[in-house]
Amino acid sequence: MAPIVLFEAQGTRKTRPTPALLLAPCSSSRPLHIPVIIRFDSNFVANVPNSNTPIQTDAVIIGAGPVGLFQVFELGLLDLKAELIDSLPQVGGQCAELYPEKPIYDIPAYPIIGAQELIDKLMEQIKPFNPGLHLGQQVERFEKRDDGRFTVVTSKGTEFDAGAVIIAAGLGSFLPRRLKAKGLELVDPAHIHYKVTDRERFRGKRLLILGGGDSALDWTMDLADIAESITLIHRRAEYRGAPASVARVKALAAVGKVSERQGLIMQAFANNGHLSGLEIMDLERNKSVAEGEEALVFWGLAPDLGPIANWELALEKKQIEVDTEKFQTSIEGVFAIGDINTYPGKKKFILSGFHEAALAAFGVQKYIHPDKRQFVQYTTTSPIMHKRLGVEGKAG
Ligand SMILES: Cc1cc2nc3c(=O)[nH]c(=O)nc-3n(C[C@H](O)[C@H](O)[C@H](O)COP(=O)(O)OP(=O)(O)OC[C@H]3O[C@@H](n4cnc5c(N)ncnc54)[C@H](O)[C@@H]3O)c2cc1C
Repeated sequence: MAPIVLFEAQGTRKTRPTPALLLAPCSSSRPLHIPVIIRFDSNFVANVPNSNTPIQTDAVIIGAGPVGLFQVFELGLLDLKAELIDSLPQVGGQCAELYPEKPIYDIPAYPIIGAQELIDKLMEQIKPFNPGLHLGQQVERFEKRDDGRFTVVTSKGTEFDAGAVIIAAGLGSFLPRRLKAKGLELVDPAHIHYKVTDRERFRGKRLLILGGGDSALDWTMDLADIAESITLIHRRAEYRGAPASVARVKALAAVGKVSERQGLIMQAFANNGHLSGLEIMDLERNKSVAEGEEALVFWGLAPDLGPIANWELALEKKQIEVDTEKFQTSIEGVFAIGDINTYPGKKKFILSGFHEAALAAFGVQKYIHPDKRQFVQYTTTSPIMHKRLGVEGKAG
């Protein structure tokens, strides 16, 4: 039976790591074991398919971390429409990817709030403004046109025609940690994998699976039935994955379906471009070779500034320089907020990013509508704000 795919509401995830699978089941670094159910929230357009017509919008926000999400809200209050793009398959940036279950204590008015809970609340808060949500795609190209508008293109070919660009890219894109080893340049990269898009490719093959977390263990279990052999290589004997997965892998090892090795990868061996094995050095510095023809590397994700580094923005130590009036970069119409920016006194707190988003929204409005009069309206009392928030008649 084909698995039914669950689409988690609003593109957020409640638990780790299943929802990451849900939004991109075919390209996930983890196998799908359970049948799940579709729940699609039509208020959000997730993974909007490519079309030849560029998507017109007031602002493209690069990065759907907490600060990028709040930027949607601040733009919405000023009647500006936003499209959010993130290279990860789920929203929430560092909060969702690195510490979803940890409590945060310095969000105003929340004495304590879980990191994922904060993201869920931000998603709820921005709902009235219905942003386009384009996940699992990295922004690769951007260009300022003569008319002052911007063309932004993602790795999936989605193109935007935007009045302004807001970079809320945090630490940059999270990319898979790459295998580095002597001799790897002689191996055709087609034999080194960082995700599984077609498990059938590994049928009858001798696999080297690298890692000790959930992805490595899950794929070991999943591919054990179809691979000729699996060698699971981790730097130490203890795995970081779920206890049930560890137990199953140990059971597979006990019946000889999986062979476990410990140590660091020192060298790759190639035969006419084909991988033939990896040299491992164990904790006692003994070297040995694990033979295999396909390597699957599941060493987690690491942040990388990626293409943004080449956009000719003024940078200081890989951070984007901005003013503190509207958080505009060295390119007029391009703003940078949150962990990605730098200015005198910058502190990388979520609450600093929220403040930056509020002022950047006014900067965006001024850039797109230079003649429009700007004034501050309170959400408590302004009928215009109530209309935009969809709470007309509800305020007391
Ligand atoms: C363990 C830990 C605990 C923390 N605790 C706290 C705390 O208690 N209080 C606090 O205030 N802060 C805390 N922080 C810091 C806080 O998480 C960050 O300040 C915050 O996440 C920054 O938000 P952001 O939206 O700017 O960036 P991020 O959360 O980094 O999100 C940026 C998003 O941009 C995406 N992206 C990047 N480049 C591209 C691209 N080219 N194309 C598409 N998408 C892209 C990334 O995938 C990412 O999802 C903590 C951080 C860690 C790691």
